[in-house]
Amino acid sequence: MVVHELAHQWFGNLVTMEWWDDLWLNEGFATWMETGICAKLHPEWNMWYVLYLFFVLLLLLLRGLTRVTAAAVVVVVVVVVVVAVVVVVVVVVVVVVVVVVV
Ligand SMILES: [Zn+2]
Repeated sequence: MVVHELAHQWFGNLVTMEWWDDLWLNEGFATWMETGICAKLHPEWNMWYVLYLFFVLLLLLLRGLTRVTAAAVVVVVVVVVVVAVVVVVVVVVVVVVVVVVV
């Protein structure tokens, strides 16, 4: 935690991102410094493994949050495909009927 905030003394205070959407840069750097220095000082803490677990849990959380959106996208794609197939079949039938009648 202290190393993280010390890293922010440079990347965050002296060097500041232009807008908040680049916040991941200084947080990523501070987290990398925190993990690397703690891993050097206390190898028994397995900090790189802890960081890896944190990112895996974060990805699982984000996947859980986006599951509803992914299901909605699948439903929309299926509906669009079904509607497109129906339209193509109707057009083919109309063309065949017009050609046969004429
Ligand atoms: Zn931070």
